[in-house]
Formats: sequence, C-alpha cells, structure tokens
Amino acid sequence: MTKKNPFQLLLGFLLGMGVAIMLLTSLPESPIQSAGAASPAGPQQWSRTGPFPVHEVYYPGTETLAPDEMRVVACGTGMPQPRLKQAAACFLVELGNGDKFIFDMGEGSFERIMALGIPLDQLDKVFLGHLHLDHAGDFPAFYFTGPVNNRLTPLRVWGPSGVKPEWGTKAWAGYMQKQWAWEKAGRGSAVDPRGLELEVNEFDWTGVNKVIYNENGVTIRSLPAIHLDQSVSFLLDWNGLRFAFSSDTLPNKWWREHATNADLSIHECFIPPQMMVERYGMAPSEAVMVGTQGHTAAQAFGKIMSLTKPKHAVCYHFQNDFDTQIVVAEEIRKTYDGPFDLAVDFMTWNVTKDGIRTRMAVPNHESFPAPPQRAKQPPDSMNAYKWTEFSLSGVEPESAAVTNALIDAFNKQNGTDIKPGLTGLPFKKKE
Ligand SMILES: [Zn+2]
Ligand SMILES: [Zn+2]
Repeated sequence: MTKKNPFQLLLGFLLGMGVAIMLLTSLPESPIQSAGAASPAGPQQWSRTGPFPVHEVYYPGTETLAPDEMRVVACGTGMPQPRLKQAAACFLVELGNGDKFIFDMGEGSFERIMALGIPLDQLDKVFLGHLHLDHAGDFPAFYFTGPVNNRLTPLRVWGPSGVKPEWGTKAWAGYMQKQWAWEKAGRGSAVDPRGLELEVNEFDWTGVNKVIYNENGVTIRSLPAIHLDQSVSFLLDWNGLRFAFSSDTLPNKWWREHATNADLSIHECFIPPQMMVERYGMAPSEAVMVGTQGHTAAQAFGKIMSLTKPKHAVCYHFQNDFDTQIVVAEEIRKTYDGPFDLAVDFMTWNVTKDGIRTRMAVPNHESFPAPPQRAKQPPDSMNAYKWTEFSLSGVEPESAAVTNALIDAFNKQNGTDIKPGLTGLPFKKKE
C-alpha cells in the first residue's frame, strides 16, 4: 500500500466532490412526483430544457400515488339532462395501495373514465348508491364493452337491495343480462370474454354504517339515504383517511351521525328552485319538490357540512356554470364557513393526512383503451357463435376476395396463419 501525502488526499477529496456535484446537477428533474406534497416555498430555478415539475393541473398517467395517498377524480358531476360539459354522477377513488373504486356510474361517465387511460383490469369494483339512470346508466356499457376495452378480469358491483326484490341490484343486474343477451353472445364470441363475468353483491339498503366491503385494508360502509327508498350513501375508510359519498339524498340523521370526520365529503346539492323554474321550465311545485325534497338544497348542503365538519366538502349534481356557481356558493355560505369545491368533471383531489389539494385533470380527448394487462385469449368466433345459414349465404364474393387478400398480407406481415371465417365461405368447395 502506498501512503498518500496530505496534498494528494485533499486533491482526491476535491475531485470526488466535483464528480458528486456534477452527477447531482446532471440528473434530470423527474416530472413524476407526488401531488400530496405541498409545493416547496421560496424561489426555485428550473432547468430551461427539462420538464417543469410544478403542475397546477393533473395529467393522468404521469403521477405516482404515494403509499399513504388517496386521489379522487370526478368523472361525472351533472344532472340527468345530458350535456357535453358534465356527465352524470361518477367518482373514481384511487388509493396508494393500488386499489381503485368507482362510485356511481351515471350517463356519460364511461368516456370520462376512459379519458384517464387507466387499464380496465384495475377498475373492477363499482359501488352504486341507487339505480337511477344518472347514477347507474353507463354501467351496462362499461360492463358489456369491457372486453373490447381490454378488461380481462371479472367485474364486481355492489348495490342496495330493493323494497321489492325485483327492484334491487341483483334483479336489476339480472334484467340487464337478459336485455343485452344478444350483445353478450355476439361480443363474447369475438373478443376475450373473461371480462364479461359479473359478480353482483347486493346488501341491505336499510343497514346503518354496516360494512359491505372489507379487503386489503379498505373498509366501505353504507348508510341509508332519503331519495325515494332503497338509496344509500357510502363511507370508505383506508389508512386513516375517510372518503364520504352521498350519491343522492336529502340530508339525513344517518349521514349526520356517521359521515363525520371525513377528509373528503362529497354530497349532492342543487341550484335553488327559482332557478330550476327558469332554466328547466319546471312548474313551481315540481321545482320545489325536486330541488328541496328529492334532493339537497344548497343551503341545506351547507348546514349538513357544518354539522359533520369534513376537512374538505364537495358539492356536486348541478349544472356548474359561471352564473349558477355564484348562486350556489352564496347559498352554501349562508350555512357553512368551511372549505368546499363546486365539482365539475375532471376535478381531482389528492388527499393525505397533511391536507387536500384540488386541481383539474387534463383528460385525453383522443384516448384508445389502455393496453391489456394479460395475454388475450380470443375465441374462435365462427364456432363460439351459431350463425344462421341466411347470413352465411349473403357474403358478397368480390368484396370477400379483397378482404381475403388483406388477411394474406396481414399474415405475411405478422407471421400468422389466420384463416378468413365469413369471407372464406364463397370460396369453399361445395360438397
Ligand atoms: Zn337519483
Ligand atoms: Zn341523481
């Protein structure tokens, strides 16, 4: 071993420090960061060529969820009256343990979900608060077209029992299967049908704070809601965080008693009846009935939030525009002085024990399905579905020849040996 003199040691130290500093300064700043962490205070200098890592909006698919973080995305915040800006009720809850849950799935919400680019295998749990179309209308599309959107796992749905058995979630899912029997037979014969398995979990709609789901450290309870009968609200607890979702209800004693201490409390709330007369053309009695009895008036929303004191309140279920939001906010402020958001589609909340951060998501308007998470097993469609001779006899031969040439070229390009089914028929030798 050679002994180094003090000068050599100092030189070596300086060189080492230099290399370390160079390494540190040349590392690219990661655009992926947890949103739950508060933005660091004070002036900062970012690279002029690297990504700019402070996101005041949420870009789906770019942000790692911290192990103790919850993210909620509004995939529908509107009304039964369809509009481009707002789908009907739907909220996606993503947890740092990898679990994802969908609460309600009203009309128009499926395309919002798809715009987030999440593999559908990861979206296999749907909780329906009640079976109105503006809370469950997109479920059939989500379920039956799951396989064409690369869902290759069974779908699981939770929903309330009925005052009459035939009104409950189990019967509803059964009717749905019957109504779409042809869709299911045909779709399942062409694409991998594993995503067409459906697990229906019906629970007692009168259960108060009863556990209806308990897996992987996540507990979901239901509360009765007052919105006709057989409607419910949900409480999700995980890792010391609580998400409360009313679905549709009049403020009620069960919510008041059990939906306390929520980090994020999402409750329906309506525009005032006078505005419903003007905007919807409702008769006065109709507007009062729908806007204050069947649903929660904005002032009543404020009151129930004052009584339950969530860390952050969210009001949804109204056409949220530049003029309606002023009115709704003024109404809420008469009875509530805590923090709240007036939800609009793609509003996003990152929830941690340190607090809640609200941003708008930037959705992909030109989304394709996320890639399959498993190897596909498509069936032999010519055998999986029993064609009538009538359709088989109708294939036009000259167009079929063009299609067959296309399949030949595809086989050459991909090294496959796929035989035409229907378009091969005109060229089969007659026996
Ligand atoms: Zn409803
Ligand atoms: Zn509703």
